[in-house]
Amino acid sequence: MELSNRQEQIIQIVKDNGPITGENIAEQLNLTRATLRPDLAILTMAGFLDARPRVGYFFTGKSGSELLTEKLKKFKVKEFQSVPIVVEENVSVYDAICAMFLEDVGTLFVTNDQTLLVGVLSRKDLLRASMGNQDLTSIPVHIIMTRMPNITICKEDDLLLDAAQKLIEKQIDGLPVVKAADDGMEVIGRLTKTNITKALVELGRDEHI
Ligand code: ADP
Repeated sequence: MELSNRQEQIIQIVKDNGPITGENIAEQLNLTRATLRPDLAILTMAGFLDARPRVGYFFTGKSGSELLTEKLKKFKVKEFQSVPIVVEENVSVYDAICAMFLEDVGTLFVTNDQTLLVGVLSRKDLLRASMGNQDLTSIPVHIIMTRMPNITICKEDDLLLDAAQKLIEKQIDGLPVVKAADDGMEVIGRLTKTNITKALVELGRDEHI
């Protein structure tokens, strides 16, 4: 985040004199306590300063990049996940290709008749199946999908960073976000490289609350 001149001054005063009350900081800057309040709130929320009742403000000693890392490590999958696009295991490869285009996604999740996760379909899985002379309307997707138990998954409460690491390690574009059901797993979300990119942009622009 970009700090204003006044905010930089406040940090310097607290570094040199902390713990120091808001009143005293204001005095040193020839401003009123009320004028300073928004700046102190920003600096405290951003983690540069900390405040203790009856003691005052003190410098946390954390650098900008340490604060950034701290923030990144708190991101959860559920804050960034998208809606999952799901097809049933008996739909044809042709219909799955249509779904992928219509829904504008790169990964489809495949479920059985009890809506439990049984497979994943990527763009290349569908391309590969289209390369021969087969009739794509008569091949069900369960023939060509990557199937359980080889599916890499994540949960809503997982750290975004851990999910990102799985994408890299497994060299895949997306993960189903699942929750445990009676006989398997239900798909409740989709976490892709696009979601990770969005998180990065929000972090860089300091937009994430
Ligand atoms: P593409 O195949 O279009 O490059 P991916 O890199 O995502 O897209 O997929 C590579 C392979 O990994 C595909 O065969 C796909 O079925 C499989 N795959 C994709 N996502 C997962 C996942 N979450 N778990 C296990 N396998 C997956």
